[in-house]
Amino acid sequence: MSSIPEHSHCKVCGRVIKAGNQFCSVACEKKYIAEVESLIRAKRVITVTTLISPVLLIIFLLVAKFLLFGG
Ligand SMILES: [Zn+2]
Repeated sequence: MSSIPEHSHCKVCGRVIKAGNQFCSVACEKKYIAEVESLIRAKRVITVTTLISPVLLIIFLLVAKFLLFGG
């Protein structure tokens, strides 16, 4: 029987590693954490923008109305 022994792949570079491990090296682990953190930050920016944009739109419409029709 030639079954592949239980193993995992590094989440960053895909190298075969010992089963149960997530990364092949500390460098890959650091890289992964940095990527996840930047993803979380980007998500936060999108959320804030989504929440703020309707408010900005309303302000813009009010200002445009004021400028065009004198309030
Ligand atoms: Zn790796």
